[in-house]
Amino acid sequence: MKRAVSSFEGSRQGLYIGGKWLEPKSGEHLPSYDPTTGRQWYEFADAGADDVNAAVRAAQDAFVDPKWRRMTQTDRGKLVRRLAELFLENADTLAEIETRDNGKLIKEMRAQMRALPDSYTYFSGMADKLQGDTVPVNKLDMLNFTMREPIGVVGMITPWNSPLMMLTGTLAPCLAIGNTVVIKPSEHTSASTLALMELIEEAGFPPGVVNVVTGAGRTAGEALVRHPGLAKVVFTGSTETGRKIAANAAANLVPCQMELGGKSPHVVFADVDIERAVNGVVAGVFAAAGQTCVAGSRCFVERSIYDRFVEALVERTNRIAIGHPMSETSDIGPLALSEQVKKVKTYVASGLAEGARVAAGGKQPRREDLADGWYFEPTVLTDASNDMGFMRDELFGPVVGVMPFSSESEMIALANDTRYGLASGIWTKDIDRAMRFARAVDAGTVWINTYRSASFMSPMGGFKESGYGRRGGFDVMREFSRVKNVVLDY
Ligand code: NAD
Repeated sequence: MKRAVSSFEGSRQGLYIGGKWLEPKSGEHLPSYDPTTGRQWYEFADAGADDVNAAVRAAQDAFVDPKWRRMTQTDRGKLVRRLAELFLENADTLAEIETRDNGKLIKEMRAQMRALPDSYTYFSGMADKLQGDTVPVNKLDMLNFTMREPIGVVGMITPWNSPLMMLTGTLAPCLAIGNTVVIKPSEHTSASTLALMELIEEAGFPPGVVNVVTGAGRTAGEALVRHPGLAKVVFTGSTETGRKIAANAAANLVPCQMELGGKSPHVVFADVDIERAVNGVVAGVFAAAGQTCVAGSRCFVERSIYDRFVEALVERTNRIAIGHPMSETSDIGPLALSEQVKKVKTYVASGLAEGARVAAGGKQPRREDLADGWYFEPTVLTDASNDMGFMRDELFGPVVGVMPFSSESEMIALANDTRYGLASGIWTKDIDRAMRFARAVDAGTVWINTYRSASFMSPMGGFKESGYGRRGGFDVMREFSRVKNVVLDY
């Protein structure tokens, strides 16, 4: 793959439209910053409405082009599997690009990029399984059946926290089913999506099947969402942005899939092995420096073990190694954006004013080697309550609030006392209690004695203000295909 990290360094990147690399008609570019130094490392195009129109037009043309539309299902599946092979061959390069752009740990990005090809392979199986039904009709000599077909041009808007992982869950099924795509990656992390286009080309997807318009959300993103030529918008990002996007898409009656934020409850009962539960809570909230949508950032602990649990949690948190994301010994790296550090600092400060207490972390590390980067210590706030700002809002940083509960009913009320409903976790040896929690909690995913063990084979998505629609699993075939009823009198 030619597009290694070095090919971005100091470069100015274009847009990928209709199989060609183009300068933006807007003439505008934006800087992308290295989170370990805060310095610009390349520039990407800030697409305007004309660029977005060109990308949607290219995707519309590709959708009806016989090269794509009349490709056999078997060949389309093979093409997606070829992409999986190329992805695997280039996984380590993609990992380096991702780490350079968003500051996530290289060891985690390598593991993630080496795993994503399995997802492409899984979804490639949808290509030859798109089928309809023969439906009974209350009349003789009549054939009544359904056909499943691709929906058209899908607009995909991705966040900065896991650009390629978030993209794969929808790009892979969309391509297998025969749709075409316009991607608008986050303005903070466009590099890996641009690099992926080289593999799309090499795999042999016809020009225009996949297009990328980089740029700011309010310009490129909004122009895409407002485009009447889209069949669907898939958005992964914050609830606040999701609300605007859903309203803008609704003007053209374009449906959306919304993968939004979370403030997930993580519950610990007294019957657990404390060390195991502590490790689960730590991995659940501090992975990727807290920048995961499912972060278990509200921790509820049964009162009888509360003090012991907090002591063990603080001890474990203080052993987390903060460091450069390229170092194999780092446990957490920097946050992806400088604004994120400001946001986390502000919420920790207001939490203290509201009565919470810092039991671990709570500030930027005072270390010379980290001084320029956007690092924040993994932080445990005790004496928390659900009405405090940091317990209500998604911080997307390494902060967990801890509070005790006395009964199962109190715990359920506390867990569900949030506008979000993305994920949840419970640690207990009592399977009946775990199942009662699974039924009662308002969350799209429930983890029992584990956390963040997700699979592209199962449905992932939120309730309440965490969104609607599901990624993962075979059901997504319905999200990206449409059904047509055909009636034949003979
Ligand atoms: P964000 O909402 O700030 O931005 C996401 C994307 O939307 C970016 O590409 C941005 O450019 C674009 N955008 C912004 N304003 C827009 C507008 N008006 N019209 C069209 N596009 C616009 O989110 P972020 O900060 O990049 O990502 C973090 C958020 O993503 C967190 O809230 C996190 O929970 C969420 N997330 C959710 C999931 C999930 O599966 N539920 C997964 C990952 C991240």
